[in-house]
Amino acid sequence: EDLRGENSFDKRPRQVPGYHYSRVEPTPVADPRLLAWSDDLARHLGLERPAERGPAVDVLAGNRVVDTMKPFAARYGGHQFGNWAGQLGDGRAISLGEISATDGSPWEIQLKGAGPTPYSRRADGRAVLRSSLREFLCSEAMHYLGVPTTRALSLVATGDTVVRDMFYNGNPQAEPGAIVARVAPTFVRFGNFQLLAVMGEIDNLRSLTDYVIRRYYPELGEPSSDVYLRWFEEVCRRTAVMIAHWMSVGFVHGVMNTDNMSILGLTIDYGPYGWLEPYDPDWTPNTTDFGSRRYAYGQQPQVGLWNLWQLARALVPLVADPESLRKGLDEYSATLEQTRHAMLLRKLGLTDQQEPTDRALLEELLEVLAESEVDMTRFFRGLSHAAPVVLTSPATADETFRTLLTDAAYSMAPAEESSLLDWLQRYALRLRQEPAAPAAVHETMLAANPKYVLRNYLAAQAIEAAEAGDLSVLNRLMEVLKTPYAEQPEHDELAAKRPDWAREKPGCATLSCSS
Ligand code: AMP
Ligand code: MG
Ligand code: MG
Repeated sequence: EDLRGENSFDKRPRQVPGYHYSRVEPTPVADPRLLAWSDDLARHLGLERPAERGPAVDVLAGNRVVDTMKPFAARYGGHQFGNWAGQLGDGRAISLGEISATDGSPWEIQLKGAGPTPYSRRADGRAVLRSSLREFLCSEAMHYLGVPTTRALSLVATGDTVVRDMFYNGNPQAEPGAIVARVAPTFVRFGNFQLLAVMGEIDNLRSLTDYVIRRYYPELGEPSSDVYLRWFEEVCRRTAVMIAHWMSVGFVHGVMNTDNMSILGLTIDYGPYGWLEPYDPDWTPNTTDFGSRRYAYGQQPQVGLWNLWQLARALVPLVADPESLRKGLDEYSATLEQTRHAMLLRKLGLTDQQEPTDRALLEELLEVLAESEVDMTRFFRGLSHAAPVVLTSPATADETFRTLLTDAAYSMAPAEESSLLDWLQRYALRLRQEPAAPAAVHETMLAANPKYVLRNYLAAQAIEAAEAGDLSVLNRLMEVLKTPYAEQPEHDELAAKRPDWAREKPGCATLSCSS
């Protein structure tokens, strides 16, 4: 209770100057029904899987608020697509409060789609099943991949419909509504700090920063001008590590607005995100971004820096020497570069660094991949299996590599194939200089190159089935994505190349922000 909260419980949309959050209760829904539940996370939180309907599910739908809960919506702002957007805030997410996990750590539980708040602006405060299922599945999939992320505990159908113009084509449709209970130590974003700075609420800016440092970065010590700087550097480092992970698994966030950047360096706000199929730095799933491609895969490192720059600007009033905030930004660039390099080396099974030739070899790989149409996930997974074979019987290299490319490429012109084969042959030579045994190389690579990611069309298939009342596709995906680095041969088809029908299909490869 260190932060100033507004206590009116008034849901009408408005500016809320002077406060960090507004107390507001979720708006009940017609018929809450549990669709999905994250067993592992629940176990960590000390919660048991509830029945399909009942008091626990009512809580997860916002129909029941118990005495110990103090529901609130946070006030924040943000830059959207590079433009300052003013006050945004939790327009449809309502936090119920905190829960202590079995290890004593505090976790905030937030219901996304729980009805209007003062921050809903002209929107309805609700979420559709399609986008909720995507957030639920992807946050858990990212966690199991080892990517820093917020978690998702439950997916509940509301029994209400929500009207959305899904393709922005002037044809709004009624869709089933849903609520995700998402979980993180905190959902504070860069935008919380930005809004306070822009509004000149410097006392609030300081109280928020002190709160975040004391609660989530206690190792830095008692807040002071110097600690603010070290804290900013740590936020920069964490953001760099998060984005390095995204690049490593082919994740495209899709809407890296500063209100969607977690102060803990967690992947947050799963909207029109997507996964690279062919490796293509220019690819974005977000139809709103098709013009500028600001948030395309290859832009993410740059955008992370831009966003941190905005956070730095917001922190200027707190520090004695604002110029020293630059150190954090440098820290970001250095950490991102080092982490990406280390991750890519691991993906290739290379440990014994040979500078600067290794660096050139890695860069050339990304170039030849971008120039051809090769599935990123299948390429690296295939390479994990090819590497030990090539090490044990070098004579088979050519055939092994050709098979790998056939299995990973969507199409391949002869010139592209020869550039790829040429790179692979050079890689094989480099690999032979590794001291590790082929089996150890195999193991390292399998642990760095997931076989299963939440391919865009797989999420779409789970949605289509769930909307028709069939949860089996969702359940199967949840199970398989729990061990994405394991072979699971009985689920091979979930690691297949994107089928042709899904190539340009709206909702598969292209997504709108409508959710
Ligand atoms: P997003 O693009 O999902 O990060 O959302 C940007 C802003 O719009 C945030 O302040 C959200 O709370 C708000 N918002 C998005 N959808 C809705 C909705 N259906 N109702 C109310 N607010 C919304
Ligand atoms: Mg958001
Ligand atoms: Mg390409």
